[in-house]
Order: sequence, then C-alpha cells, then structure tokens
Amino acid sequence: MDRHTILLVEDSRFFGQMVRDRIEEELDLSVDWATSMAEAISLIEARSDDYLAVLHGLSLPDADEGDMARYVTEKGLPALVFTATFSNESRHRIAALGVADYVLKENPKAIDTVLDTIRRIRSNPDTRVLVVDDSPTALTKIRKLLQAHRYEVLTAADGKAALRIMDEVPDIKLVLTDFNMPSMDGFELTRRIRENFPKDRLAIIGLSSERDEMLSARFIKLGANDFLKKPFIAEEFYCRVQHSLDMLQQIETIRELSYRDPLTKLANRRCFFESAQAFIHRAQQAGERLCLAMLDIDHFKKVNDTYGHDTGDAVISNVATLLDTAFPEGEALTARFGGEEFAVLLRHAPERDPVLLFDGFRRTLEQSPAHASGGNISVTISTGLCLDISGSLHQTLSAADENLYRAKEQGRNRVVSGVCELKD
Ligand code: GH3
Ligand code: MG
Ligand code: MG
Repeated sequence: MDRHTILLVEDSRFFGQMVRDRIEEELDLSVDWATSMAEAISLIEARSDDYLAVLHGLSLPDADEGDMARYVTEKGLPALVFTATFSNESRHRIAALGVADYVLKENPKAIDTVLDTIRRIRSNPDTRVLVVDDSPTALTKIRKLLQAHRYEVLTAADGKAALRIMDEVPDIKLVLTDFNMPSMDGFELTRRIRENFPKDRLAIIGLSSERDEMLSARFIKLGANDFLKKPFIAEEFYCRVQHSLDMLQQIETIRELSYRDPLTKLANRRCFFESAQAFIHRAQQAGERLCLAMLDIDHFKKVNDTYGHDTGDAVISNVATLLDTAFPEGEALTARFGGEEFAVLLRHAPERDPVLLFDGFRRTLEQSPAHASGGNISVTISTGLCLDISGSLHQTLSAADENLYRAKEQGRNRVVSGVCELKD
C-alpha cells in the first residue's frame, strides 16, 4: 500500500510551516498538520493507513512528554520526534518508546536529518532483512526496531532455518545474526551464507552479548560487514543497519554506472564482455543454440546532421528499446557497443533460424519510428551475424563484424550471416 502523507503535529507556526514546506517540496509527499495531540488523534483514527510517518514534538500543549510518541508507536506508525533538549537521560527515555528517530529542534541540520529518515522509511519496505536469534525476546525486540522503520522483516530461530530462508526468499539485503545459537553458531552461519552471497550484494551484522572481545574481529574476518554488541541502544542499531545498507546501495549505484549505458539503460561493452561467458555456459547447459549479432544503424550521421544530436539520441534509445523487447533479458545479452552500434548474444531453440529472427527485427524497426521533437524519425539497421560461437568471443565478434561490414557494402538494411571465417 502506498502511503503519501506525513502527519505533522506541531504547535509552532513558524517551525511547522518550514517543515511542511520542505517535506512537500523535497519529498513530494503531502502533509496533514495538527497543532495538538487531540487533533492528531482524530486524524490518525480517520486515516492512519495514509500516513507514512508521524512527525511531532516530544511535548505538546495538551500532552505530557512521551504521550504522543507512545500513542503513535502503538498505532504501528513510525514516530519521528523533535526535542528541544538532549540529555543522555532523555535520549534513553525517548528511544525506549520505540520511536523511529529523534532530532534536536535547534540543530540547523535537524530538518535534513528528518527528510533523510523519511526517505528511508519510504524506501525501506523494499528492503528485506533476516534476523536470526534463538532468543524469542531478542527476535521480537529487533523485529520491532526494524518494523518501526518499515523494513520487511523475516525471522529465524536458528542457522539451519536461516539458510533455508536464504535459499527460498530472493533479494534479502541484510542478515542480523546472533553468535551463540544451538546447532549452528553465528560464525558458521556467516561462513555458510558467504559461500553463496558476496559482501557487495548482502550485508551481515553479527550480534552478541558475550564478553569475548575477539568476537567482533572474528565475525568480520568470516565475512560479516559489522558487529553490534548486545545490549545496544536503538540509535546505534539504526546507525549500523543504515550504514551497512548504504554501503550496499552505493556499490549498487557504482555497478549500475559502470555496467549500464546511461542513455539506453542497456548493458555496456564492459558488462557484455564480463557476462558473455556465463551466458554462453548457461545456454550450452540448457542444450540451446547461440548466435551473435552486431547491429549498426544505417546513415545515422545524417539523422544527427538533419535533426540535431538530441533527436539522434532519441533514435538510438528507440532502437535500444525495440531490441530489448525483441530479445528480452534471459534470452539475450544485449549491449550498446558504441555510438549507434549494438551487440546481441542470443540463445535460441535449434529449430529457430537466427537469420529470420534478426530479419524480423529489421522489419519491426522499419515500422517503428522514433517519436522525437523533429517528428517521427525512421531509420534502418544492418546486421552481421555469426552463427558459430565455438571460437573465442573475440573471434566470434570479428566474424559478426565482418558480416556487418558486408551488409553495409551490399546496400544496408539487411542481415548477413555468410559462412564464418574465424581468424585470429
Ligand atoms: P553507416 O550506415 O555506414 O553506419 O553510416 P553512419 O552515419 O551510421 O556511421 P558513422 O560511423 O559515420 O556515424 C555514426 C555517427 O554516430 C557519428 C557520431 O557522431 C554519432 N554518434 C555516436 N554516438 C552518439 C550518441 O550517443 N548520440 C548521438 N546523437 N550521436 C552519436
Ligand atoms: Mg551506422
Ligand atoms: Mg557505426
């Protein structure tokens, strides 16, 4: 369910307006603004399913310290609390209420922090976290902390159950594991998880109440990203969880930038070379045939010269989208190889003729102009095919490239497969 509204409970006009404006402008969420606890309660009763989080001061004109936070968390909503004071004592008191975050009102960065937390809470339902602990009390406590930030939480009472879940449930991003558990301890679980899930795809945080000071180093050496000593305070817990997940997100962004072409979102040349062997291997195991096509848009320079570079870009994107539809991921490894040049490594059933498949694509393109500001722009494409991929990838590419050259020479807008001459 999509939640698009923040409930703001604040009696100061100036502060409330500032917070509301920034949430609406920067997060594109709407804001309901109540000025008292009574007003907030009637709003929550009416539409709690619409609220992503409740943002409120610790004390309100009609409520004592903590009353509002307690009510909000009991309703299962994330509470983000502004406070004017921040002694260690009040930090503990606020955390004990199960709030999602608390920030000092006077801090000029307070609103930035709140916006950051709201952003996370909005995206966290897409983040799966597995908690492994043999203590039901610990499991419940950690699950509540994670749920206050709206993470999707899975739990396991021992290592074996955890491994089973890892096998069955895709896309778990973080595992929090206790150390001391019967039958399989946290070290062994970490080691086993790392056999299949590398550190840049899944984060592991070890947890333990043992006094042994070696625990943290050993957890990390076995592949955990971090370690947290029990008992911990909520603030540290959230910091460490967020830190590990931020790292994964950053790696994912870098991977995306280095493997995807930004214009077409297709794989780039580097990604093609790194993924080709595994793709070929999978196809061979499935008993399928493979072919490699090099495709190049005809007279593309003319498009740029006539309509400008932006229209040229739109034409390239259109070809990429059509290629992606005609040869979907799984069946094909499709990459933008250079300016207006594409490579498609295609797995196909033995009875399907690749020449016909690529000729079909050639015809589709003829009938699918790009819609650009200069009007509807039609282009054609030449394709060089290599039907024998028994040589090295380099040889296969050269053979396809030669056939592409022939296709251009023979008048463009055609598919040439020829008989491959493999040369070094
Ligand atoms: P041919 O039929 O022989 O392939 O002719 P062509 O004009 O398509 O080939 P040529 O290699 O001479 O020109 C390709 C042009 O593509 C030149 C370059 O400026 C343009 N180009 C390369 N990358 C991009 C891009 O990302 N966007 C745009 N708009 N143009 C690009
Ligand atoms: Mg071209
Ligand atoms: Mg070219």
